[in-house]
Amino acid sequence: MISRDLGGETLKDLRDYFQDRDYMVVAVPKEEPARVYVVRATRTVETARRIHDLSPAASVALGRAMVGALLLTSLVKHATDQKVLLKIEGNGPVGTIVAEADGKGRVRGFVENPRVELFTREVDGRRKADLSRVVGSEGTLTVVKELRMGTPYTSVVPLVSGEIAKDLAYYFFQSEQVPSAVGIGVLVGEDGSVTHAGGFLVQTLGGISGRVLDLLEKRVKDLPPVTEMMLSGKRPEDIAVTILEGLKPQLIGLKEVEYYCPCSEEVAKASLHLLPEKEIDEITQNGPAEVVCRFCGRVYRFSKEDL
Ligand code: ZN
Repeated sequence: MISRDLGGETLKDLRDYFQDRDYMVVAVPKEEPARVYVVRATRTVETARRIHDLSPAASVALGRAMVGALLLTSLVKHATDQKVLLKIEGNGPVGTIVAEADGKGRVRGFVENPRVELFTREVDGRRKADLSRVVGSEGTLTVVKELRMGTPYTSVVPLVSGEIAKDLAYYFFQSEQVPSAVGIGVLVGEDGSVTHAGGFLVQTLGGISGRVLDLLEKRVKDLPPVTEMMLSGKRPEDIAVTILEGLKPQLIGLKEVEYYCPCSEEVAKASLHLLPEKEIDEITQNGPAEVVCRFCGRVYRFSKEDL
């Protein structure tokens, strides 16, 4: 594992290396047990918008879930293909939201209703997206951890807000017993494209001093919204430094983030083979059977002979 002072030189290296690509940084205070994950996923969420032809509201909902899935990879081994699936089933018009990410920073997702409309409410004299009305404030949040070691581990909690970040913080506390603060933001431009998407996760572990615990709580509380920090030019490492200022921040993890769907002809064929033979015969009677990947829209066609 790398460990470098998250200071001037490292900040410059990160900026030069990643430029405007998407990535996640993991940082810790040098002498206290806490972890900070910050991710930028602007291009990744924009890719999802183009694949699924998402409306602005659906872009925000799926984008937040995708950033959430990336933050949930804090639960799997870094740089492996262990993965985490996040499923949100709320009573709002967007329907089911699914996002899946792996330890290598690869993420994919879809929503049931990609053309859902945006609800807004007034906050401090400004119109803001009211995501809880898109996702719904009642329902469940399911996390499936696939550690590639036998049966996947599934955990379900009720939705507490429908804004996704708060729901994830509740999940971390309730199911993983780790006190966590989560912030996620997705901003859509006038033309409907995704201009900013990112998030952070701050976790405190056992043995942390009361002084640092209080300090981190206050920092997180005073932090501007994620999209506001991104709009002002802050990169993931800058946000990590803001949270850990004065605590000798160390960079301990780094990964590029991208939209990636590992679907294949083999997987598509296997899904058809789950059907009874009689049904396969019926489907292939009038031409090839089609399997459409929900995550990336790729279409696989199989004739009766292929199957
Ligand atoms: Zn696919």
